[in-house]
Amino acid sequence: MTTVKAYAAQNNASGLAPWSITRRDLKPHDVDIEILYCGVCHTDIHFAHNDWGMTMYPVVPGHEIVGRVTGVGSHVKKFKAGDIAGIGCLVDSCRECDNCKDDLEQYCTGGAIFSYNGMERDGSGITYGGYSKQISCHEDFVLHISDKQPLEAVAPLLCAGITTYSPLRHWKVSKGQKVGILGLGGLGHMGVKLAVSMGAEVTMLSHTASKAADAKRLGAHKFVLTSDEEQVKTVANHFDFILDTVSAEHDYNFYLAMLKTNGNMVCVGIPPPAPPVAVFNLVFQRRSLGGSLIGGIAETQEMLDYCAEHNIVSDVEVIAMKDINTAYERMLKGDVRYRFVIDMATL
Ligand code: NAP
Ligand code: ZN
Ligand code: ZN
Repeated sequence: MTTVKAYAAQNNASGLAPWSITRRDLKPHDVDIEILYCGVCHTDIHFAHNDWGMTMYPVVPGHEIVGRVTGVGSHVKKFKAGDIAGIGCLVDSCRECDNCKDDLEQYCTGGAIFSYNGMERDGSGITYGGYSKQISCHEDFVLHISDKQPLEAVAPLLCAGITTYSPLRHWKVSKGQKVGILGLGGLGHMGVKLAVSMGAEVTMLSHTASKAADAKRLGAHKFVLTSDEEQVKTVANHFDFILDTVSAEHDYNFYLAMLKTNGNMVCVGIPPPAPPVAVFNLVFQRRSLGGSLIGGIAETQEMLDYCAEHNIVSDVEVIAMKDINTAYERMLKGDVRYRFVIDMATL
């Protein structure tokens, strides 16, 4: 076992502070990674604050991990020391259920193991995430990272990238379709870039007027300020597909009314309170409301390769580890353009 520096929340009001964790000895299929950068996802805030009532404290968040391989187990074939590698939200799954066999490990019915706040399958305890110096993971859950793109800007692809890529692919977003991306934050800005790259006509739906210019710069064809009645009228019965990335309570019915007949609205944002949905809004135009969780390992690699090929990365603000609590406060105020990434050299 190795003792490793980390940052943890000890309870829902403690904020994040230095802590130390132990990482396991290398197993035959393990890859050891020195973490270079870790993105800050709003899910990290939900867990640190116990918004979803499922946090096991102390929690070490972080699931947008990019680093350098420092060692590999005797059976590892896919990686060698010195490689640049990534770990996202998943570190293990049962590998036997239908979903695991279909490359949908995130929906593993035997229980997907998440990078933090998960229980290791071998009973060794709770998983700790990327706000730390080092991590060990089975090679099957480690991703190859191109060395042609800036690593700090690639890190957020491991969650924000795949969480938006997967539903856009599953619902077959393509050229000619009208797509609304709701919420311009970490997920939203990746959603805009990816949907534009797939040929869709993309509208940014935001409650922050000052983000209009950025939305255009990111590639959005149109910007609708959701508090402006006149602007909202222009997108009534308009979209084939809406991707909802909003992290806070909001009215789903308001956005469902923006879907065309047969349109789909897919939630990836997970606000803590359960939302009331008026079924009328679905029934009368045969609309669908769905949800989507990150993506499987094969699809995550496909997304990373796609982003490398299309030169897509995240817009990031690199921070020092000690500034994580300020970063959380700023994210809760919507003051992030558009992903904080921790430089782990500062830990
Ligand atoms: P983020 O960077 O903080 O962005 C959230 C955005 O939501 C904000 O930028 C803001 O956009 C909008 N928003 C915030 N408060 C709002 C309000 N009161 N009313 C309307 N809009 C509001 O967060 P993120 O990292 O993208 O994560 C977003 C959500 O996705 C979180 O709930 C997170 O847990 C979840 N998530 C889910 C998955 C999954 O697999 N399904 C994966 C990762 C994250 P505007 O200023 O443009 O309105
Ligand atoms: Zn995330
Ligand atoms: Zn499974």
